[in-house]
Amino acid sequence: MTSNKQLAAIQNAFDGIALLDENGIYQFMNKAHAQLFGYDSVDELVGQSWKFIYAPEYADRIEHDVFPMLNLKGYWSGETIGISKDKKPVLQYVSLTKLPDGGLICICRENLNSITAAKLQYLMANLGKSILVEDEYHKIVMVNNQFCELFKIPSKPQDLIGADCLEALCKALPLFKDPTLVMETFSAVADKRDTVIGHEVLLADGTILERDYVPIIIDNTFKGQLWSYTDVTQNRQLQRSLLDAKNRAVASEKAKSGFLSNMSHEIRTPMNAIIGFAEQLSFTALNPEQAFFVNNITDAAGGLLGVINDILDLSRIEAGKMNIEKEVINLRQIIISVENILKPKTEEKGLQFTSVVADDIKDRLFADEVRIRQILINIVGNAIKFTETGAINLMVDLTEENDHKQFLAIVCKDSGIGISNDSIARVFDEFFQESHDSDHRSNGSGLGLAITKTLIDLMGGVITICSEKGLGTTVTMKIPFELVTDDELIIEHNPNEELNLIAGKQILLVEDNKLNRLVFKMMLSNMKADVDEAENGLEALDKLRESTYDLVLMDIQMPVMDGTSALQIIKKIYGDSIPVIALTAAAFNSEVSHMLNLGFSDCITKPIDQKNLQTRLYQFFKNGSAKEKYYQKIEMEILANINEMAGGDVTQASKLIGYLLEELVFSLAEWEKSLEKRDWNAARTILHREKVMIKSIGITGFDGLISEVEDDSVPKTDSELILMYSQLTDLLKILKARFSH
Ligand code: ADP
Repeated sequence: MTSNKQLAAIQNAFDGIALLDENGIYQFMNKAHAQLFGYDSVDELVGQSWKFIYAPEYADRIEHDVFPMLNLKGYWSGETIGISKDKKPVLQYVSLTKLPDGGLICICRENLNSITAAKLQYLMANLGKSILVEDEYHKIVMVNNQFCELFKIPSKPQDLIGADCLEALCKALPLFKDPTLVMETFSAVADKRDTVIGHEVLLADGTILERDYVPIIIDNTFKGQLWSYTDVTQNRQLQRSLLDAKNRAVASEKAKSGFLSNMSHEIRTPMNAIIGFAEQLSFTALNPEQAFFVNNITDAAGGLLGVINDILDLSRIEAGKMNIEKEVINLRQIIISVENILKPKTEEKGLQFTSVVADDIKDRLFADEVRIRQILINIVGNAIKFTETGAINLMVDLTEENDHKQFLAIVCKDSGIGISNDSIARVFDEFFQESHDSDHRSNGSGLGLAITKTLIDLMGGVITICSEKGLGTTVTMKIPFELVTDDELIIEHNPNEELNLIAGKQILLVEDNKLNRLVFKMMLSNMKADVDEAENGLEALDKLRESTYDLVLMDIQMPVMDGTSALQIIKKIYGDSIPVIALTAAAFNSEVSHMLNLGFSDCITKPIDQKNLQTRLYQFFKNGSAKEKYYQKIEMEILANINEMAGGDVTQASKLIGYLLEELVFSLAEWEKSLEKRDWNAARTILHREKVMIKSIGITGFDGLISEVEDDSVPKTDSELILMYSQLTDLLKILKARFSH
């Protein structure tokens, strides 16, 4: 073989081959050697020391462990871990042979085998954790640098091999914040020999460590254990400050919604009296001047209520609590009633009002009646407000239709003052009002269009405005309405029918506010109901002992005994035989569902006028508890959700839900046991485990309740917790029973 051939063989060898001088400097190497360490050209390494391809501490180890052997025997082979050009570990087999001139021949290849001691040591050194492995006799088998540094051990890791672990621990004890506790948990964990991950340990200097313990069991025999410590001080500090910030934000959000719901209660309660008394006054014989005064009181009170409602709506939107309900509506009837409400205003201004609803629009559609009404009153109300002469037209047309939906265009056109080009883009901004004319400005809050737009967005629709200054404005709302597929009918009735059903009913009115009691009593007496009164929950219980009632109307916030506590006692004594309707100044829908969850048959929100109270009572006496409707709604949501998952097979979906709920109720039996024992931690763990299932079934209404239970920033009493948990279990049981049919 010529020397050229020899050289070519070395150049093309699969293994890395290199020649080093007596100082460990690369003199020559083949391509495979350079490539093993990620270098394209041998020139990048030739001339460098071998230490160039090792981490400094690893190079120290080679000098310390390998070179003495090499000098003694003339060769060494084994596994090493180098570092590639892009800083990745290179696991390799290396064979080193000493040359007579003091130089070295190095032959190496990649080590593709599974973990070896060398790799383990490398891993331990680079894991970023402090690790110690001891054998079954508490002798240290492996320990890394970080461990020595963390516990201020003045020795090198390799010098600790074989040392007694317990002795080392005793030496390190003063470093811990609570040495006795450390000793106790150390023994307890080691005695139990169960893996423990993430146990928090505190050092005296404030460092927070997370300790993992892993027993090493081979062939059912205990062979030692691994202790690993991670410094999580920074993480914890960050977590704590994030949690603090979150708690502060939650607390301020809570304070805000608490303030709003209190304010709403404080304002709505006297408003109930003002609106109620003005209404009662209008029923009496009045001379024209008195009638004028009463009309003005009613108008002003209505306006004030409108502003309060707008502000509450805005805060609902901000709190993400604005929900769109789904019920069967008749759009034609809603438009007629909106027209009737606004008629006095159009007549007063001498404006013409026409409304046309296209014939092909279905009589029954799914929508949120209250919100559709609110949108129409807002838009048509604006048209009237900003128009002095001419006409207002409201048109509803069908623009598109499929098997599930009708897409409607609701267009309101006026011949009023119009909106300038500059302002048109801003009319949906909160508090924006273009008009400087005090007559128009004083009549609103500038929130109407902002709220209307959000409501239409939530319904999946769009609103646009076209306007020309001095000529008029056209508002177009395109909203999808779901079709009603079952044969639920809107029962038409007249006010006499309502009165006939309510007359003669024995009603117990429980309300602490004297004025409100008076207004409600007058309204109910006008409906010819038989009214008895109580000032608080306790008095109500006395009354219930003495007489029988068809219905209890119960205020919630009352001194001596509040409405909720009274309801619980009524339920205990009389079961479901006495229906109780809550009278609240509730600002949020969630509060209304909360009342229904608590067991109230319905929830009537104050302020309420006689006409609406009459309709609500009629609905109650005719159709029974609103709870039924409430459960139907939850059922519908769940069915729609699972139906989608089941690919549209309704029977399958219903079966699936029954099965899931059964599972859920079954595992919740465990929950009830923990509640009996007041073991809140266990109850919470179960809730945490089951919430995914609850959500996957689609019981979305409980998100708020679950996060309230899980929210540690607000302390809760035992009875509050029991109430929250039992609301959930009760609902799940009811749903299970309903879906099993
Ligand atoms: P508000 O009516 O309470 O002032 P809105 O949010 O409903 O608040 O309306 C915001 C502003 O948009 C009004 O103040 C008015 O300047 C303008 N605007 C709304 N509708 C009309 C309309 N039909 N004609 C003229 N201007 C209108």
